[in-house]
Amino acid sequence: MAYAQLNDFLTRARNASRTDGNTFNERTSSLRALIGLLRQTPNVGAAQIAAEITRIPANKQTIYRDALDSLRTNYPGLAALTGGGRPAVSSPAPGAMLQDIASAAAARVQDRTLQARLRSAYLTRKVAQRMRDRDPGTGQYNGSFTDYAPWGVKMKFEESRTVLTVAVPIRYRAKPGDADGHAPTQLERETWAHTIRSAWNGAQFQVSASGVTRTLDVQFTVEFIDWGSSLGTDAYEVDVVNIPIERALLERGRARGIVTDAQPLQNQNWRVRAELATETLDGSSLGTPHLGQWGIHDRQAIVHEFGHAIGNPDEYDCVRFTVGTTATDCTGSAIYDQAPFTTSSVMNDTRAGTVRKRHYSLIADLYKVFYTAQNGGVTATVTVKGVPD
Ligand SMILES: [Zn+2]
Repeated sequence: MAYAQLNDFLTRARNASRTDGNTFNERTSSLRALIGLLRQTPNVGAAQIAAEITRIPANKQTIYRDALDSLRTNYPGLAALTGGGRPAVSSPAPGAMLQDIASAAAARVQDRTLQARLRSAYLTRKVAQRMRDRDPGTGQYNGSFTDYAPWGVKMKFEESRTVLTVAVPIRYRAKPGDADGHAPTQLERETWAHTIRSAWNGAQFQVSASGVTRTLDVQFTVEFIDWGSSLGTDAYEVDVVNIPIERALLERGRARGIVTDAQPLQNQNWRVRAELATETLDGSSLGTPHLGQWGIHDRQAIVHEFGHAIGNPDEYDCVRFTVGTTATDCTGSAIYDQAPFTTSSVMNDTRAGTVRKRHYSLIADLYKVFYTAQNGGVTATVTVKGVPD
């Protein structure tokens, strides 16, 4: 576990203890076995940490909830085991949560071999961002910020002479507790993958190492992984909904005053329907309002959301982002701290934004890690080509 994350956990534990009127002592605390595991080098697995958390008495679970939640978010792989990785609304009752952890840990043991293979092949990072809040009615900045829960970026490289294949797993499920929740069929998943590849394939990496320069076409495969499989550990996660296109057209038509009781949708001509479909059907009306939820009919916003899955923060309203343990303040930046839909960048405008060189930055960084591991410690430089600056 990274030093900063361990410190964050310990600080929260100390604060909780102080609130409770006690002095926190690492040697005698009910958390001491857990802290011992966290301090171990090399890091122990998420399942072992999850198991140790279950041994902490229920009343201490309550006292140290903030510290434990931070651990669940930050410890690699633990968020997936405990169902974390998305905005924390409220914590479930400790009993139910521990049951979930125990069954998730048991399920993981069954495909341990496959898991071990994937762990060694995939590279992962956590990405998080802080955004300006806007008033939903006026769209005006309201003076406050929100830190969103980190999301997982996971990818695997395969290289031939001229092609670099980047495989990105995406863990999916029908959105729980939502009448529109829908488990996407294979055809729907393939349609998403096709849309994503159409938008993101086309860049090249110019790779220089040991005096030799090669050019690789960067091509994506999108691996949709069922939520129940532990293979999705650390991967980007989406809840899936099915918003029928007819309903989306109807809602948009009503919002714009074109469709009324006197002028129902079925009486509208093709011109009006086409306009509603092409000009106003943004991601949110089709069920993709943010990176953690995708609509099966959406062909626009998911291209932007995939940009998150490969490590890009939003370029609108984003004032700070963190990749792994590196935080970047971007208040007042010419790229990041912008109003939505104002620049032609896929990370600013979900409808028509351009894919740009900077959007391949984390892939290039992780590829360099991969390259060095594959080539006995030799380092490479990577220049992105084939897409605009
Ligand atoms: Zn976004």
